[in-house]
Amino acid sequence: MSEILVERSEEARTTSAVVLLGNEAVALGALHAGISAAYGYPGTPSTEILEFLQARAAADGRPVARWCANEKTAYEAALGVVMVGKRALVSMKHVGLNVAADPFVNSALLGIHAGLVVVSCDDPGMHSSQNEQDSRHLADFARILCLEPADQQEAFDMARAAFDLSERFALPVMVRLVTRLAHSRAGVLPGEPPAPERTLRKPEDPGRTWTLLPSIARAQWRRVLRTQRDLRAWAEESPWNTLRLDPGNRDFGIVTAGIGRNYYLDNLNDPAAGPSHLHIGTFPIPAGKVRDLARHVRSVLVIEDGYPIVERMLRGVLTSGLEVWGKETGHLPGDGELTPDLVRKALNKAPRESFNLPGLSLPPRPPQLCQGCPHRDSYAALHRALEGFPETLVAADIGCYTLGALPPFQAIESCVCMGASIGMAKGASDAGFRPAVAVLGDSTFLHSGVTPLMDAVAADADMTVLILDNGTVGMTGTQETVLPSGRIREIVLGVGVPAEHCRIVDANPHAVDAMAKVLREEIDHRGISVVIARRECLESLRRHRAEKGGRP
Ligand code: SF4
Repeated sequence: MSEILVERSEEARTTSAVVLLGNEAVALGALHAGISAAYGYPGTPSTEILEFLQARAAADGRPVARWCANEKTAYEAALGVVMVGKRALVSMKHVGLNVAADPFVNSALLGIHAGLVVVSCDDPGMHSSQNEQDSRHLADFARILCLEPADQQEAFDMARAAFDLSERFALPVMVRLVTRLAHSRAGVLPGEPPAPERTLRKPEDPGRTWTLLPSIARAQWRRVLRTQRDLRAWAEESPWNTLRLDPGNRDFGIVTAGIGRNYYLDNLNDPAAGPSHLHIGTFPIPAGKVRDLARHVRSVLVIEDGYPIVERMLRGVLTSGLEVWGKETGHLPGDGELTPDLVRKALNKAPRESFNLPGLSLPPRPPQLCQGCPHRDSYAALHRALEGFPETLVAADIGCYTLGALPPFQAIESCVCMGASIGMAKGASDAGFRPAVAVLGDSTFLHSGVTPLMDAVAADADMTVLILDNGTVGMTGTQETVLPSGRIREIVLGVGVPAEHCRIVDANPHAVDAMAKVLREEIDHRGISVVIARRECLESLRRHRAEKGGRP
């Protein structure tokens, strides 16, 4: 958190600029909207939203701000808050929304009477993700309103307004960020003082609006469909959709969405002097403004970060006479993160001048496990335990330990989604492959590993699960896991793994031989087994020591 101005009074606080990350601006906007609770699961680039709120909660005693086992449970907790009449925020990275998709999509059919806002942070360019999926598609899929800020001020304003809009349309509202906005800072003017928290108020008729039996769901779905017209009308009037027509240029116009506006304006000497420009900050998009632009120019370049959603909407399938340029026409790259330079090239402008510092040659720095990381020892042991097998399968998951796919470890062979390792190893075992090993971290296990372990126990699958228990969510900045390390074995036993085949080993350099021996014994066992390799993440250890006032 980087608020830089001294807060002298309530008035000064609300009228003075603060410098915030896009994520922090969203969190502050939610606080100003009077949220009572926020939930999430750590995931780059969304993590700082809940961390900001947790810091506020530690200082002010509110709101409730908790990491949950996964994005689905986080969304469901937010639904509970809203059901009793208080406002709630739920934040996650884009792929986390897949995990929360069930409550997310169904919540559009509920009678939302207290603001519910879901913030989904997309990662074009896959800086820290396994895909580039665009959350705007999921908002459309659920038939809800999506707001896409172009800068930090809009991130604050939209997050704050999203709660009012959620109540006005009785729908959840999505705020979509992209990595570059989530993780860059700019000044934000909070404006009006924060709204007070709501009081407890259950829905008047929950049986009719919150109980999605088919007959009720059908009625609610019709209500959602009727609301689409209201959303489209609202989008037409929204100040976040702006159109400026250039009477001197009937040839060419620009359409931007979200952060695309910044990249476009960055390439103009005088923003007021450019060609006709439609900016889109809401989904549904303002169709009337699009038509006004289409009547004015013959061609448009669409600048948006993520999938070519606006571009496709504008092009459609029927010819309109408007030429639409963008990612699908090759004017902008179809993959990766948008940048001002890529936009510059699409605008046919000469490249900016750049310079090289003579003699400065930075060595490449591929990502790697920290020196002394416990996963290094676990992978050394796993290599030894698998010696002698002609072929092995090691399915893994998402965390720091995914770096075990790279040299020098090359210890794992898959990374698909949270918890997939156990299901995949079971599938391989079902297909007759052995040895099949699943590797995942403690937080990943708690997120999505328990249910596939039930499948493996039910089938007494011939496989071994290696849980790398470092006591934290290491990859996203050492957040607390939802349950402490000591509880993992209880959960494994509770699911039904035999106690003699659920073993705990020390993941340290002096115990690699012992770890390898235990692993080999369990891999040789014809049935389900779990080995928990336990040692705290070094970063987490440093943080805990620093918190206690010791040497980091
Ligand atoms: S942050 Fe922790 S878990 Fe991640 S590589 Fe470093 S020591 Fe290992």
